[in-house]
Amino acid sequence: MYTKLIFELSKEGRIGHVLPKIDVASRKTSDLIPKNQMRKRAAELPQIAENEIVRHFINLSILNHHVDKAFYPLGSCTMKYNPKINEKLSGLPGFTDLHPDQPQETVQAALQILYELQEYLLDITGFSGITLQPAAGAHGEMVGLLLMKKYHQMKNRNRKTMLVPDSAHGTNPASAHIAGFSIKTIRSNEKGLVDLADLKANLNEDVAGIMLTNPSTLGIFESQIKEIRSMMDSIDGLMYMDGANMNALFGIVRPGDMGFDVMHLNFHKSFSTPHGGGGPGAGPVAVNDKLKAFLPVPLIDKKNDLYFLNEEVPDSIGKVHSYYGNFGIFIRTYIYLRMIGKEGVRKIAEHAIVNANYLKARLKDVYELGYDAPTMHEFVLSAEKQKKRGAKTLDIAKRLLDFGMHPPTVYFPLIVKEALMIEPTETESKEMMDLFVEAMLKIDKEIDQNVDILLNAPHNAAVKRLDEASAARNLDINYYKNH
Ligand SMILES: *Cc1c(COP(=O)(O)O)cnc(C)c1O
Repeated sequence: MYTKLIFELSKEGRIGHVLPKIDVASRKTSDLIPKNQMRKRAAELPQIAENEIVRHFINLSILNHHVDKAFYPLGSCTMKYNPKINEKLSGLPGFTDLHPDQPQETVQAALQILYELQEYLLDITGFSGITLQPAAGAHGEMVGLLLMKKYHQMKNRNRKTMLVPDSAHGTNPASAHIAGFSIKTIRSNEKGLVDLADLKANLNEDVAGIMLTNPSTLGIFESQIKEIRSMMDSIDGLMYMDGANMNALFGIVRPGDMGFDVMHLNFHKSFSTPHGGGGPGAGPVAVNDKLKAFLPVPLIDKKNDLYFLNEEVPDSIGKVHSYYGNFGIFIRTYIYLRMIGKEGVRKIAEHAIVNANYLKARLKDVYELGYDAPTMHEFVLSAEKQKKRGAKTLDIAKRLLDFGMHPPTVYFPLIVKEALMIEPTETESKEMMDLFVEAMLKIDKEIDQNVDILLNAPHNAAVKRLDEASAARNLDINYYKNH
């Protein structure tokens, strides 16, 4: 579908605003602006009526799929609905007009919010120290890894290996590599859990730690944490938990209690802030007493009744973000947690788990299960059977677009063939999930009735099948050159 630019819609004289006549003595612009910075010709602004501007942007906004439009069951990424009040309140001038260089005594309320937010998060995670600074999950991983590195350096050893199970999120090995570790992949066993024999075979004095995604990218709760903990203790290794999918654990278990040393959270996933499009997010890192002394500066602290930014952390790994991170995201998370309260936190996890299990139960007889293990917030199907009948996972995903739904994550995790990784999230109703099930069952029938409809899908999306590799690698955003 070709959508015109606003400049192409422009018609001379079709002006969408009425300004009152200037009734103050005006100075000539040339008195105010240096001559060499004046325009040589008038700006080519589009001239367009208000109703057409509105239609133009509304139409653009729905070209792509988004969570305000329909279901978005992207496994491992928690594309849940974010209450609009978070946006409204975090946009209040009392927040947006603050300047991060303001004297601390003039921003006590803002610091109090950040401090209280930290307290809530420590309560939810079971840890004793936290930094809000990291800008995203992967950034949080990087910070966590630098803390682990520092732990070993303080003991005068330079450990180089990071253990990463094959069911971990892809950012884990990438972050470990960037933090200077070499990665040793640990196999999953037939239940989708860490293969303890393989872990044991890879334990040695060069291992700095292990990074576990829990629940794993198979949506499975790693139930052998105690065993893994004692194996890691035998070499004084550390345990990192990728907590991006904390909405499966909220209020039920705490990673700090389970024996982890460090974890990150994704505010733009579990804690309800808009997600995607490269906008700001936050990936706070929480730690136990072993790593607390190394947290990035400044810490948000409280002394007597005064909140302050604490720069006096002698063993800190340093700063990892300008000022103290993405403030607007913290406000959204704070509002979210205040709105749902302590009891609500647990309900989030319960609903996330019930929803995923409902979908799994309704789909598992038609699509194969990647692993037949208890499901947390997401599960993985395999379209191997469908592929043999003529339509692979990609065709099913593209066909789902015709039903007005975003496809699940496909071909990930790599350990399941023809994977479809589905996370309904806690915010979807049974009715919406039933629509998804009906679409998935109908698509399966279409393979035998008219497979071309799948092979040529999508039929009613804005664009057909893109060459996804070139689209990402040879990015071409120059409109005028191409039209
Ligand atoms: C999304 C995700 C990450 C990475 O987080 P970003 O904010 O995208 O950098 C890491 N681990 C898991 C399990 C995730 O789902």
